[in-house]
Amino acid sequence: MDIKVMKFGGTSLRSEATRKYAYRHIIEATENSKVVVVVSAMGRYPDAYATDTLLSMGSELLSKEERAKLVSIGEQLSAIKICSELLEQGVRAFSLNFIESGIRTDNNYEYAKVIKLDNKEIKMKLNEYDVIVVGGFIGTSYENRVTTLGRGGSDYSAVLFAHMLQLKEVDIYTDVDGVYDRDPKLNEYAVRYDRLTYDEMLNMKSRVLHDRSVIFAKKHNIKIYLKGTFSNHSGTVIEG
Ligand code: ASP
Ligand code: MG
Repeated sequence: MDIKVMKFGGTSLRSEATRKYAYRHIIEATENSKVVVVVSAMGRYPDAYATDTLLSMGSELLSKEERAKLVSIGEQLSAIKICSELLEQGVRAFSLNFIESGIRTDNNYEYAKVIKLDNKEIKMKLNEYDVIVVGGFIGTSYENRVTTLGRGGSDYSAVLFAHMLQLKEVDIYTDVDGVYDRDPKLNEYAVRYDRLTYDEMLNMKSRVLHDRSVIFAKKHNIKIYLKGTFSNHSGTVIEG
């Protein structure tokens, strides 16, 4: 059974119009494999369920533990919403919550350290369904508390799920179609890289990918394909 892990960021999932592009990539991938779709919270502040919007609803007095619970709602809701819309399109999809997804961490609520990856549930559901949708960025501690992997951490989750399923590559979709030498939104002469090494990517400090995702991918030799949700270009591959 071929399995593919595809991650979509908040700006790709912001609206019905943007999600259509994501669904195109997902449905195309289901022709050849089962798919694990890792999602961020939908949109950016002030969109209703974006991470910073949720944070703005909570008091400054909330503990880190409570803030993790609050923001986890964004990814959880996103997973159920994307699963619903895939079902409406005839895709056999199922969503996993943060306990079922199997990312076990310590109790550092804002920047949790991953301790164990438990693939039992996800593997079981992959046997039954064609697409599994799961929220990135969140984990569960051994005391069953919800934890987060650091802002921007769903990239890291995507690589963790790939490793959990013994895969050597992962597709990360974002609103730019690869890594550029300058910000392509500000500079029309920006040049896209076809390929970068893990170290080159880390040294660029580009913020396109969460550092933890690149460090983990390097350690386990997992290729990261960075692609544009709104594009059909092959993007940039980050590899050894
Ligand atoms: N939603 C989280 C954040 O905004 C995680 C992510 O998008 O990667 O930081
Ligand atoms: Mg991001």
